[in-house]
Amino acid sequence: MNHVVVVGAGLAGVRTVEALRSRGFTGRVTMLGRERHRPYDRPPLSKAVLSGEADDSYIGTDLAALGVDFQPGVSAKSLRAGVVETTEGELGYDGLVIATGADPIRLPGDGPQQVLRTLDDAHELRAMLVPGARVAIIGAGWIGAEVATAARRAGCAVTVVEAGPAPLATAVGAEIGARTERWYDGIDLRLGAMVDSVDEGGVRLVGGAFVDAHVVVTGIGVRPAVEWLADADIDLHNGVVTDEHLRASLPGVVAVGDCAAWWSRRWQTRLRVEHWDSALNAPDVAAATLLGEDAVYDPVPYFWSEQFGHMVQYAGHHPAGERLLYRGDPEGKWSAVWLTADDALAAVLAVDRPRDLVQGRRIIASGQRLDAKRLVDPEVSLRDC
Ligand code: FAD
Repeated sequence: MNHVVVVGAGLAGVRTVEALRSRGFTGRVTMLGRERHRPYDRPPLSKAVLSGEADDSYIGTDLAALGVDFQPGVSAKSLRAGVVETTEGELGYDGLVIATGADPIRLPGDGPQQVLRTLDDAHELRAMLVPGARVAIIGAGWIGAEVATAARRAGCAVTVVEAGPAPLATAVGAEIGARTERWYDGIDLRLGAMVDSVDEGGVRLVGGAFVDAHVVVTGIGVRPAVEWLADADIDLHNGVVTDEHLRASLPGVVAVGDCAAWWSRRWQTRLRVEHWDSALNAPDVAAATLLGEDAVYDPVPYFWSEQFGHMVQYAGHHPAGERLLYRGDPEGKWSAVWLTADDALAAVLAVDRPRDLVQGRRIIASGQRLDAKRLVDPEVSLRDC
């Protein structure tokens, strides 16, 4: 293999380049990035960058030293076997890495709506979060909760509009989400409220009510950024379909990060995980696969969120669980654990209980069975249950 093209210059793209080099690939590497920035991390955008504690989150990798031809501001437009068509012309490849991430979903309407996906989005939104500004956030998921945290801290009058019955309901279920409602103190949280459109001056709800706002932030989720592959001879279904080696259906092509829907050996289902840990760790497997080595991507998925002064961490795959149990104080530090029918740990969500997360993640990986009676005692460490 002489030439690897990496499409997408986010964390997954950069880590794949690093992994290719550390595995001894000495051929040509070209990396295309739609944005004009050099690669940066996204989690700080809704945290330190939005709150003004940091101005950027650039990744320290020296692409020139790795011998990468990095082309910022260049997008891939389409793909046929062996050739990527870009905004700057055609590019032949022997190996292709698809690492195009995901794009935010927007709502209908003519009014201005902010999203938070890029460094430029974060700077734009930060400038709007001024004391007294009326901010309507649509969606009480991970991003919505983190934006609400920053907006409240900035002294804005915050309304959060959520279609579900509780915050985080789509991600982790309404029962757990309801436990986070108390964190929205001082915020006008409207649950079960569907948005009709984003209009000039605010948000129109189904039923006719209008939420006045100077700033509207839409945080209702993302879609894998794979439109450029629509006419390609490659399997797409909720992202780029890959096997457990991260190999796509077109020869010589792998996919990583938010855009990849990989086959999970552990859970025997296809997963697409839009979280940092996957973009960090999947690339090593993708690089190995591209170089003809035998590697399998089979993680216990992990992510975290920092919201309203709480550290929320999750590991596992809760749809595999049948029973939900709790540890700790619902008004303080607590964890939720999902057990399978035969008492294996399917997933853990820890609120300010990092040890539960670390131990839980290991237990999930090992398949160890737990004693449900001991589990609900927060003083007994998970590994002793
Ligand atoms: P991306 O980071 O999206 O990178 C893909 C890149 O490809 C982008 O730069 C894009 O412009 C480029 N691209 C797209 N299409 C093309 C094309 N056709 N041609 C060329 N380039 C293209 N995860 C957590 O676990 N915890 C958190 O607390 C957390 N916080 C987050 C906060 C925010 C605001 C956001 C947006 C995400 C957060 N995440 C968090 C998720 C995490 O950042 C993502 O999972 C991770 O960035 C995925 O990396 P990626 O490289 O797959 O995709």
